[in-house]
Amino acid sequence: MTELAAPTTSTTARLGLDQLRRTVSGPVWDPGDVGLVAEIAGFNLAPVHEPVGVVGATDAADVAAAVRWARAHDLGVAVIATGHADFSHRGTLVVSTKRLDRCDVDPRARAVTVGAGVKWARVLEAAAPYGLTAVTGSSSDVGVVGFCTGGGIGPMIRRFGLGSDQVRAMQVVTGTGEIREVGRGDELFDAMLGGKDAAGIVVEMTVELVEVSRFHGGAIFYDAADAPAVLHAWRAWQARLGENTTTSIAILRMPDLEAAPPPLRGRTVVHLRFWHLGPEIEGLEILAPMRRVATPVLDMVGDLPSIAIDVVHCDPTDPMPAWITGGYLREITTETIDTVLAVAGPQHELPVVVVELRQTGGQALRGTQGVAARAPYAVGVVAPMVPELVDVVPALGLGLVDALAPWSAGTVPANYASPQTIAARPGACWTDDGRARLAAVVARTDPDAVLGGRRLGLR
Ligand SMILES: Cc1cc2nc3c(=O)[nH]c(=O)nc-3n(C[C@H](O)[C@H](O)[C@H](O)COP(=O)(O)OP(=O)(O)OC[C@H]3O[C@@H](n4cnc5c(N)ncnc54)[C@H](O)[C@@H]3O)c2cc1C
Repeated sequence: MTELAAPTTSTTARLGLDQLRRTVSGPVWDPGDVGLVAEIAGFNLAPVHEPVGVVGATDAADVAAAVRWARAHDLGVAVIATGHADFSHRGTLVVSTKRLDRCDVDPRARAVTVGAGVKWARVLEAAAPYGLTAVTGSSSDVGVVGFCTGGGIGPMIRRFGLGSDQVRAMQVVTGTGEIREVGRGDELFDAMLGGKDAAGIVVEMTVELVEVSRFHGGAIFYDAADAPAVLHAWRAWQARLGENTTTSIAILRMPDLEAAPPPLRGRTVVHLRFWHLGPEIEGLEILAPMRRVATPVLDMVGDLPSIAIDVVHCDPTDPMPAWITGGYLREITTETIDTVLAVAGPQHELPVVVVELRQTGGQALRGTQGVAARAPYAVGVVAPMVPELVDVVPALGLGLVDALAPWSAGTVPANYASPQTIAARPGACWTDDGRARLAAVVARTDPDAVLGGRRLGLR
């Protein structure tokens, strides 16, 4: 059964896949093969992939062979792990990293070594018996490597920094097919942390774990009518919090889906996200003013094991067509909140699920590792990229972020950069210095532009 439209693959490339098949240990799929679609299907249903072939890599040698083959055939290589991103890969060779599933916790070294296909959820489970946890993003369904190579903003960011700040070492395949072991201080190591797949493809990554077994936190949902009061109160409140606390606030237009808890289903609400590392009594005291601002529709904050980190953001895990954009902010003022309410407040019927203002500073601002951009705050927009909205969603999402331009830090978190974000703001995933450092490394590690640099707006 043909599951994909035939891509514009040259006959030479098609014939060459047989040669690649003989070189690698993992499976190789041609465009029409049964199983190709399932191999690269992930969380995000929006991308339309039309690769020239897919390699299910089993080790570094497979990744290196795939890159060398693509380079010899003048083709690009894209990498898919858990498929959360919204990039469509057409006319490239796709490396699927699902089979790179090593997940070894070393409690003495307070670190975990993962294969490039591993999601945070597995790390959380493996680390918990040792009283350790990982500095994840909002969803443990996201891949460790995809998250950290994009910088990685999470619910513990103000205490521990970016996801990329936790990385100790990597095994990387460059755009020339060289396998390199890199660690702190190495220029390729830095280029990978914030450079996504521009300078190389990660095969394995060693990430520090933190001695945290519990936290006080979760989610509080308020009625849409309380949005002005809650958003303004949040702005003033968050500015007084110490770095043991990280919080964000979102206007959430909940779809009418069974996966959503009944009080929220099909309703617009305000979602306060809260994580605090400290005794329960301290967490309760810190949160008390926000509990008094308005009567919550649903209050899910409590003392929780670290493994329950997903309760803070309550991100969906069922596959869906998701589109994301955003930007870093220097500050959030009263006028910033007024603008968010004016352009995205509950009075508007918008095909947007989340508009979030997020604290991203604290320890993250002190980190020096990698090339990821950093700023005290970020705005994020998530919308459903269904066929009837493909022409509407990007313009709307970019417009919402543009409305906050007066407070912009000038950069975009790489993990929030959809193809349209990159087209509208090429190079904005990095500061000028970060971009220059990354570009210099990429020129050496991927001289023929086989990897992701072009897609990411770097070259
Ligand atoms: C529900 C949801 C919640 C999210 N929450 C957050 C959040 O809290 N904070 C945040 O920072 N981001 C967040 N993101 C964005 C997410 O971190 C990025 O989309 C990330 O790239 C996903 O990585 P993946 O491996 O899961 O996805 P994939 O689609 O498989 O990979 C995405 C990209 O990651 C890079 N990549 C993946 N594997 C490799 C590799 N082996 N070597 C080099 N590069 C690689 C490539 O550029 C690839 O195109 C969220 C996304 C979703 C959909």
